Amino acid sequence: MNKITNHMPTAELQALDAAHHMHPFTANAELAKKGARVITRASGVTLTDSEGEEILDAMAGLWCVNIGYGRDELAEAAARQMRELPYYNTFFMSTHVPAIALADKLAELAPGDLNHVFFASGGSEANDTNIRLVRRYWELMGQPEKTVIISRKNAYHGTTMGGASLGGMQGMHAQGGMPIPDIVHINQPHWYLEGGDMDPEEFGLARARELEQKIDELGEGRVAAFIAEPIQGAGGVIVPPDSYWPEITRICAERDILLIVDEVITGFGRTGKWFGTQTYDLKPDIMTVAKGLSSGYAPIGGSIVSDKVAEVIGREEFAHGYTYSGHPVAAAVALENLRILEEEKIVDHVRDVAAPYLAEKWHQLADHPFVGETKIVGMMASLALTADKSVRKPFEAPAGTVGYMVRERCFANNLIMRHVGDRMVVSPPLVMTKADIDVLYERAVKSLDEGYARVKDAGLM
Ligand code: PMP
Repeated sequence: MNKITNHMPTAELQALDAAHHMHPFTANAELAKKGARVITRASGVTLTDSEGEEILDAMAGLWCVNIGYGRDELAEAAARQMRELPYYNTFFMSTHVPAIALADKLAELAPGDLNHVFFASGGSEANDTNIRLVRRYWELMGQPEKTVIISRKNAYHGTTMGGASLGGMQGMHAQGGMPIPDIVHINQPHWYLEGGDMDPEEFGLARARELEQKIDELGEGRVAAFIAEPIQGAGGVIVPPDSYWPEITRICAERDILLIVDEVITGFGRTGKWFGTQTYDLKPDIMTVAKGLSSGYAPIGGSIVSDKVAEVIGREEFAHGYTYSGHPVAAAVALENLRILEEEKIVDHVRDVAAPYLAEKWHQLADHPFVGETKIVGMMASLALTADKSVRKPFEAPAGTVGYMVRERCFANNLIMRHVGDRMVVSPPLVMTKADIDVLYERAVKSLDEGYARVKDAGLM
């Protein structure tokens, strides 16, 4: 085997990458022509690529590197655990200390009576667990016909058959026969795109009441659960109108269904509290976690389950589990990450320093002629690009054309900012300083200016 290292010329690395590596969510033939950007190292909030460029990572990887890159303590925790016990399972009446300690810590951090953890290797797997948990719960409760899970269009809950079925991404459903049976989708609370002439609060109420209507239409005896992200992340950082969650909470309290809150992005400080559930005062029966649980340093996720659900599930064997459920090295890394989040008071830093400053800067972008609205909660933010901000007019080019052009300018300006259709989104490491946020803002303005000029030159507005 030839030795492939960081020191090889970029073009050679790109050619080898194109020859053998299939990238997720990518048209690989197109990427092969262009060549992938090769990231070689990272520290704090900054990535370095194979050309030596330093890039501000305003996406924290894939919404996950909450504590920032390059924390040796996590490397040490992984090495220590690998030497002591690199692997053992938690099937067949055995357990190990990292899984015990992490479950205990999560029970302490999670609100209410969410005291039990079923581990997975990421968010998709955890949501697959959730499908089985809620259906099994109702079966054991003597109501086996309660199998339907209600989700929302443009939600993201993962990429496995279960996760993608729960998600409401049409493009994903179209590839491979999804959704699987008994998963249905109501409309999302996306006022900017779908609110028409309604005011946001009226619209939020109307969208929340679709849950009630769907339960009535199906019959309460058929519905197992409702699943939602407190703020849709991959859907474009869609912050629901203030009226939305209180109405959903009312409906869930009145109806005999379970609530699954997918905190894969919103968990571990992202919204300025430990969980989005606390930011929106939700009462979940199950919470999905991943990403920020280990700040992306090791693949781990899980379902944090209430006393009520865990008691019922535990009555008999739950025929479900992953080889890597509670993987000791991943669990040790996650524990060290949680220690850092707690001891360095990173959630307080988000609430008191980083989020208010990012919000101040982010909302200044709303003055740009290209920007129709800016939204932000904690350290997750989005802005809508528009052809005419006075009427929230979309571009005539297919959705995403303009967003992609702006994203390309960000890339050229060494800023990782993502586009979802024609919405630009950021979700930076929580440890960002004010100085980092100033750099983010300057590069965002430059990229918007350049993108605006190019879009006009191309006759797209
Ligand atoms: N749920 C949400 C809300 C997510 O954002 C994601 C990932 N972006 C997932 C689930 C899936 O997690 P994973 O990619 O770790 O399987």
